[in-house]
Amino acid sequence: MNTIKVMGETLSNKIAAGEVVERPKSIVKELVENALDAQAKIIKVLIEDAGIRKIIVDDDGSGMSEDDALLSFQRHATSKIFTELDLFNIGTLGFRGEALAAISSISKISLHTGKANRASTLIKIAGGVLEEVCQKDERLGTKIVVENIFYNTPARLKHLKSSQTEYMHIFEYLQKMSLARTDVRFEFVADGRLVFKTYGTGKIEQTLAMIYGDKIANYYYEFSAQDGDFSVSGIITHPQMQRSNNKVINLAINSRTVRHYGINRAIISGYGNLLPKGMYPIVAINVEVDTQLVDVNVHPAKLEVRLSQEKQLEDLVKKAVEETLITENLIYKNTSQPRKIKSSEQYSLSLENTQKQHLVAEKTELYVAGPRKVVNYPNGVDVKRPSRVLTQAEQQAVAQIMPVAAVQQVEVQKLVEISALAPSLAENAGKKTAIEVLRQLSVIGQFDATYILAQRDTSLYLIDQHAAQERIKYEQHMRAVRNDTRIPTQDLLFPLSIHLELEALNAVKAYKTELEKNGINLELFGVADVRVNSVPTWIQKLDIEVFIRKAIDCLVMYGQFDNAIIREKELIMLSCKYSIKAHDQLDKVEMEKLIYELSETEIPYTCPHGRPIVIEHSKYEVERWFKRA
Ligand code: ADP
Ligand code: MG
Repeated sequence: MNTIKVMGETLSNKIAAGEVVERPKSIVKELVENALDAQAKIIKVLIEDAGIRKIIVDDDGSGMSEDDALLSFQRHATSKIFTELDLFNIGTLGFRGEALAAISSISKISLHTGKANRASTLIKIAGGVLEEVCQKDERLGTKIVVENIFYNTPARLKHLKSSQTEYMHIFEYLQKMSLARTDVRFEFVADGRLVFKTYGTGKIEQTLAMIYGDKIANYYYEFSAQDGDFSVSGIITHPQMQRSNNKVINLAINSRTVRHYGINRAIISGYGNLLPKGMYPIVAINVEVDTQLVDVNVHPAKLEVRLSQEKQLEDLVKKAVEETLITENLIYKNTSQPRKIKSSEQYSLSLENTQKQHLVAEKTELYVAGPRKVVNYPNGVDVKRPSRVLTQAEQQAVAQIMPVAAVQQVEVQKLVEISALAPSLAENAGKKTAIEVLRQLSVIGQFDATYILAQRDTSLYLIDQHAAQERIKYEQHMRAVRNDTRIPTQDLLFPLSIHLELEALNAVKAYKTELEKNGINLELFGVADVRVNSVPTWIQKLDIEVFIRKAIDCLVMYGQFDNAIIREKELIMLSCKYSIKAHDQLDKVEMEKLIYELSETEIPYTCPHGRPIVIEHSKYEVERWFKRA
């Protein structure tokens, strides 16, 4: 007797659903991707109880004929690929033809779809069983209602996390998709409240502001870069906008939202030590690549892809990020109004607020056409300066000057002039480079023997003297090691003898030249002693023996000196340990010298650990402290 049987379609669909439909978000994702594949320009997503009770996705895409609509629920039914060759050249988000079959097997579903000039089709299916087909009035596009997810797979239902978690998954997916497809209007309604809405204008900054707050308007940089195989474009932001969760790195490959460890890493390394360890920049990047170079069929929910020439892409991304940042003034600013809201609140803007926000954005088009700089790099990386959305403060300033109704009449150019009156625009005279800013600072004094106070134009600057010197020393050492230049040394009047342990002794023997480049000149004598003849000039005031031992400890700890990363760690240690400390009284000349030296560094914004060195406080900000503004 046979024990093996081919399973029925309903069962096999349920099994497929186990892979495709992990949670409500998976359904939203599949349906939205179907809408996008159908060329929809407006996609409305409506959920109830985090999608568990109901998910509606309504699009204005191509729609389906009755025959297609019936077929679409069959497993392996797709309009997207037909031959095996197509599998290696996928230009659509879907291609497996299993999503609708899978979703309909674990829920109650109704599909209403139609094309121009003919009756539309309404289909109802429950647990994979067709219950009703009928014709309705003409409608363009497709509306799918999915209810009671997992009602017939209780184990799955049990596995769902809290409504809040499931909701967040959907929310985050829609945000990422909105960033990947700024040409499409997305509307997201949860439990009767409008959560967000995008405009499909192609302006990514609008979407960014909606997701991460208006403040971002002053802190983002648009860029694009391409080589023979890849074209990368998007937005990166000022390190000041950093977050502790890497979800803020939004990546899309051919407009497919995916995660990719290598590209994330490339972005982060492009920021170098502008960011502390474990912090992430807000980024939205889309990679365009020939569909033949990307395998999208490697993950059950298509959350990951496999790329050919991955390393090449990572290099391109890293370089693009680096070169975009290098052209910007990245001095930290305390200028716009901090929004005193918890992140959870941020995620669920009240309907009222959301509507207000949209009113402003939609009706008045508060939009400043900023200088659009295109720098052509020899390596083919284009860096473009973005236009700028007005900050909330600026919008308010404008609104104060003119009632909304009046604002609507004014064309954009006029608004630019008016908004120039807004105080927080003054701080954004921004064309001056950071170097100029630093060189124009006049020192006011020192606070708590730790921070230098300085001013320029209408801003007050606070400078962390320790962080500043760390940066200066770090770059000196970097230069010394990289370019084989030597940092200034000072011969010791009385050479210092130090007794070393075996391990330390070996390290000294192995890295004698490296030490010399770093200004430490020593010779071995006796069995286990070294004689230090000269040290870097800048450590004169410090305990030389402690310094030498630390340096040697580093060598022992990291072993090899030739690895760039290790070397960098080493240098960070050196520059940190032996910089001016907080609580060092500095006189005015010393402070001025420090600021000047800082202005000579490549990256005067953060110390090697990624902490800010200089923070600008606008006069407007100070006035707000005193309730004058
Ligand atoms: P796939 O997307 O992998 O082709 P699906 O099961 O998601 O598989 O969908 C099956 C087919 O149904 C699609 O190939 C498409 O032709 C059609 N379809 C699904 N959703 C829509 C929609 N919103 N608009 C137009 N056609 C759709
Ligand atoms: Mg699909």
